[in-house]
Amino acid sequence: MRIALAGISHETNTYCGATTPVSAFYVYRGDKMLDAAGQESDLGGAVDACSRMGCELVPILFASTQPSGTIEFEAYSGFKDEILRGLAAAGPLDACVLLLHGAGVVEGIEDLEGDLAKAVRELVGDIPVTASFDLHGNVTQQMAEQLNGIFVCHHYPHVDMHLRAVEAVAAARSMAASGERASCEVIRLPLLLPTTTTYEGVGERMLQELLELKEKAGPECLDIGWFHGFPYTDVNHVGSYVVASYYGEGTDVRAQAAAFADALWQAREDFRVKSLDGDESVAAARAAKSAPVIIHETSDNCGGGTPGDGTHLLRSMLDAGLGAEACFAFLVDPEVAGQAHRAGVGAEIDVHLGGKTDDLHGPPLARRAYVKALHDGRLVMQAMFRGTPLNIGPMARLVIDDMDVVVASRRSQTFDQEPFLAVGIDVHKYRYVALKSSNHFRAGFQELAGTIVTADTPGLTTHRIERFPRQRTVRRLWPLDPAAAFPEEP
Ligand SMILES: [Zn+2]
Repeated sequence: MRIALAGISHETNTYCGATTPVSAFYVYRGDKMLDAAGQESDLGGAVDACSRMGCELVPILFASTQPSGTIEFEAYSGFKDEILRGLAAAGPLDACVLLLHGAGVVEGIEDLEGDLAKAVRELVGDIPVTASFDLHGNVTQQMAEQLNGIFVCHHYPHVDMHLRAVEAVAAARSMAASGERASCEVIRLPLLLPTTTTYEGVGERMLQELLELKEKAGPECLDIGWFHGFPYTDVNHVGSYVVASYYGEGTDVRAQAAAFADALWQAREDFRVKSLDGDESVAAARAAKSAPVIIHETSDNCGGGTPGDGTHLLRSMLDAGLGAEACFAFLVDPEVAGQAHRAGVGAEIDVHLGGKTDDLHGPPLARRAYVKALHDGRLVMQAMFRGTPLNIGPMARLVIDDMDVVVASRRSQTFDQEPFLAVGIDVHKYRYVALKSSNHFRAGFQELAGTIVTADTPGLTTHRIERFPRQRTVRRLWPLDPAAAFPEEP
């Protein structure tokens, strides 16, 4: 059985100042995609599933990059043409699996995934086409109508992307063998959710409810998934979504999906978050009884499209004099990292650290810093996406006012302890451990944390989602509009 594999995965934050050009993407073509075998990512999961299930994998193209601004049209259309040409040249195919995010926005195209799925469907005809997704997707019925199965990760942190890709391959294979074809339906809720972990609280409770409902959905159920949605995007279809993939009429499946959508709507108040600014979060960390205290700056999360060079939290920590009790990894500042590498270990340098991308994330910090250690920034992820290489560029461990502050050169959030370990920092030895991430860090820190404090300083991924202007959205959305209703008024 021959299964084609292709994808474009991007979480587009339309509030970023700059657009995302073709040069920003990591592109894996043909057999290069097979290098992901063994990695706990969507690509790795799909590659492994094909080999385990004895399918002949036909790898076409996979393009992906860090969340960032609107994708330039030429970048997307180039990848799309390459995928279509690859599929056309692949010879007879039994099925096709797409690896998508769900929140892709292109210049002139609000729904990347819908556009791509439609083009793929028109080319491949009636063979099964399934897809795996990130739960931060903003999905559309237009997209769902092109697919025979939608598999969205359950968890935030996304520790199960590879498992959902395995399901997408298994479903495509099964449909190709049986001749059956599943259908997909999207229920859209007018709900803008702040980033919500599934490791605790309302996120965990709702996920549990979904998994239990799915058990009751009967034999026609292929999957029921919950897309939290991505609120940092100004598109008209923004929201939160429940998606049913089902065989036949899927009456019971769609009923269970609708019940879950209702339950989400009823629980909406529980998703509200009390935001702490930099000083407040440092005060909360000081008051915490159980150490280490992980302070995560949710509002400057490169994984949602921010620059990663914000200085608000670091400034509060330095002002509070946390000194040698604290470490912070990391700020993205290639200039300062380069300066430290040129000066070498043991040097003292005057830095203007961070705050170089925009005014929102705070001004640069002018400080004297001691260069304690240097690293090339080539890491391998050890919690979420385990086994996947991550290159954050030249790194430096600086000591500023006795505090260990790590600087890297390429945008990424802190997923696990690797950026600390790379420069010799054992986080267990510190009372305060600061990092920039909304929730993915939990895969690597939840178990060791005595306390987790969320810092919501001014930033592009703030929990204060009502602050973003919405020109493209003409619908009523909760919590922006308390009169928002579900089902939505036509
Ligand atoms: Zn996500």
